[in-house]
Amino acid sequence: MASPTHPQLNILDSALLRDIVTGEARMTPKQALTLYHDMPIQDLGRWADARCRFVHGEHIRTYILDRNINYTNVCTAKCTFCAFRRDGHETDAYTLDYEALLEKIADLVNIGGTQILMQGGMNPDLPLSWYTELLQTIKDRYPAVHIHAFSPPEFIEFIKFFDAPGNSLREKLKWVMMRLKEAGLDSVPGGGGEIFADAVRRKIGLGKCDAEAWLTTMSVAHELGMNTSATMMFGHIEGIADRIHHFDLVRQWQDRAIEDFAADGGGRYKAFISWPFQRENTPLGRCREWGRGEGDDFSEPFPGDVVAKLDGSGDKSDHPEFGRRVRMASASDYLRTQALSRLYLDNIRSIGASWVTMGPNIGQIALHYGANDMGSVMMEENVVSAAGTTYCLNEPMLCRLIRDSGFVPAQRNNEYNLLKIHDDADSPDLIIDDWSTLRADHLHVEKGEEAVSPDGDPGGDPVVVTIESATQNT
Ligand code: SF4
Repeated sequence: MASPTHPQLNILDSALLRDIVTGEARMTPKQALTLYHDMPIQDLGRWADARCRFVHGEHIRTYILDRNINYTNVCTAKCTFCAFRRDGHETDAYTLDYEALLEKIADLVNIGGTQILMQGGMNPDLPLSWYTELLQTIKDRYPAVHIHAFSPPEFIEFIKFFDAPGNSLREKLKWVMMRLKEAGLDSVPGGGGEIFADAVRRKIGLGKCDAEAWLTTMSVAHELGMNTSATMMFGHIEGIADRIHHFDLVRQWQDRAIEDFAADGGGRYKAFISWPFQRENTPLGRCREWGRGEGDDFSEPFPGDVVAKLDGSGDKSDHPEFGRRVRMASASDYLRTQALSRLYLDNIRSIGASWVTMGPNIGQIALHYGANDMGSVMMEENVVSAAGTTYCLNEPMLCRLIRDSGFVPAQRNNEYNLLKIHDDADSPDLIIDDWSTLRADHLHVEKGEEAVSPDGDPGGDPVVVTIESATQNT
């Protein structure tokens, strides 16, 4: 049963916040907007940290060893924030064959990895059998590897590509998802969440499913007993109220998942991860930043804030420059947004830090702004990196960052169960004698370079793998 809201109370009053920390009250969208705008960032961080410590305890913060595999970059959508997609005829369009995919999984298994996160563009040339055979082949060869794959926009295209039978979106989704689940799919990642508000989504997610379809896909996964995650990509054309509307939809649908399916072994959102838009090489990134350049009056509100409504009903006609100006998120905006997500999403246990886009040191600070999880070392990713972000970390570095932040690092699985608590001398970070080969400049790797292993051998040590780029774990 969801905790009550108290819309008449002042959210800046610590009595209400204390109840939110202990899960005895939840905040309203309006209160969240007040908190975002009016609470000093350090205070917001402290409350989010208190909530995180209430849920996860004082000591352990987690990460996962998984591999992100982008199986194809061919995509029917044309999201304006995407630098990854290609049309099928382009010379650098690709679809990995099974052997290439299995090699990547072998690399993962060699470093003790437990999960693959497999997402792609929406490739109309791949039949259902390509997916089912792939999943079966992976499970046959690597039965212990958890397959976290195919985001909601992919599922929505699958029902068109595969001509799924059914009288409703839900029935069609169920038809496809059951087949993929039977073939080996274990859980569904939250890619493609972006911002749910229609006005924003129509501008940036060209050809991608709307919020209702995204949330329905996850609801079907929950009904079928699969867990999922939820994501948000912010810091572009949206207003702050859009971010809160996004949180609110996730919280509402999680309430339903718990109420409707949990008793029958249903799934739910296990985590929420938000990250700022990366602009390089993207059409959206070519939009001018608000307040910079002729014609913008920086004393006027950002167009996204004029359009955004807490109920998601914003209309692009409310500001002539809506969608033509971006407001990139700063580190403090990122931390503020993440802290708010921790306090708002009282029914989601895990909040992930986005070191991939924000850098490892902001990732450390994020552990004090409501995040309990550092995501993955990631051996490969091609989507966020195509837009210019190229941070990468191996397991010792990730553990060291968590420990330096005041916590004991622990490897988890997809269910967020702890696999190894690194509290002794054999911990991945504590066995490194010489960190000089792992200096900060090695954290920033250009695409195509190789990460450096603890002994300085590029890709030579199985603990450190070739990192084509860094990723966002969803
Ligand atoms: S973000 Fe995903 S769905 Fe959108 S164009 Fe890129 S690959 Fe396609």
